[in-house]
Amino acid sequence: MSITANLAEVRARIAAAAARAGRDPSSIALMAVSKTFPAERIREAYTAGQRIFGENRVQEFAEKAPQLADLNGANFHLIGHLQSNKSAKAVEIFHAVDSVDSLKLAERLNAAAEKLGKLLPILLEVNIGGEEQKAGLAPDSDELDSLLEAAPSLTSLKIRGLMTIPPHTDDPEGARSYFRCLRELRAEIAAHHHASVEMTELSMGMSHDFEVAVEEGSTCVRLGTAIFGQRG
Ligand SMILES: *Cc1c(COP(=O)(O)O)cnc(C)c1O
Repeated sequence: MSITANLAEVRARIAAAAARAGRDPSSIALMAVSKTFPAERIREAYTAGQRIFGENRVQEFAEKAPQLADLNGANFHLIGHLQSNKSAKAVEIFHAVDSVDSLKLAERLNAAAEKLGKLLPILLEVNIGGEEQKAGLAPDSDELDSLLEAAPSLTSLKIRGLMTIPPHTDDPEGARSYFRCLRELRAEIAAHHHASVEMTELSMGMSHDFEVAVEEGSTCVRLGTAIFGQRG
């Protein structure tokens, strides 16, 4: 299957899942996760109309970015764990960071964005399943509270919502309760009306479970395999 055909198919599946949940399909963004794939494949997806891309490593994207500089309107998001010492580079090459998982990282990104005169959109990554090996803020943690309270001083960041990778289950239905938890957490945070915190985005759903995520309120599904095929 070509990237063009894959994109058409996943867009149709998103629309069908949205319809089942009584949602407007245009309220769900499609991110093409291009990690490990070369710049030519990203260009191919762009030509097929794709505009939002996700990459999980600063170094990998720094190498591809120069070959993609002419793709007007393409938006590249960092979705992988970021070490705070790579913050400046990340702010330089990405349009958004969807994987902010500590106050320290948020402060570093804020300083780097301020220096470059940018307003950086970010999402807070939540470790919704409480898995030891996974990055992300614990839902009920002091760290998450401190980050939300610090938001007014992080003037070069725009906190737009939450992101999660739920524990893996072979059956996509297994992810449903985690997606629901993230949605509820978003509502809880929004109800606190933290100054300068916007809680409009819920980035959740990957190739094997995105339809369930759409049914549970996802505003951005992140698809790699379903668009580009198996990673090598
Ligand atoms: C790789 C990755 C994806 C895409 O995974 P697929 O299963 O290939 O769709 C989505 N989100 C994050 C954070 C990833 O690292």
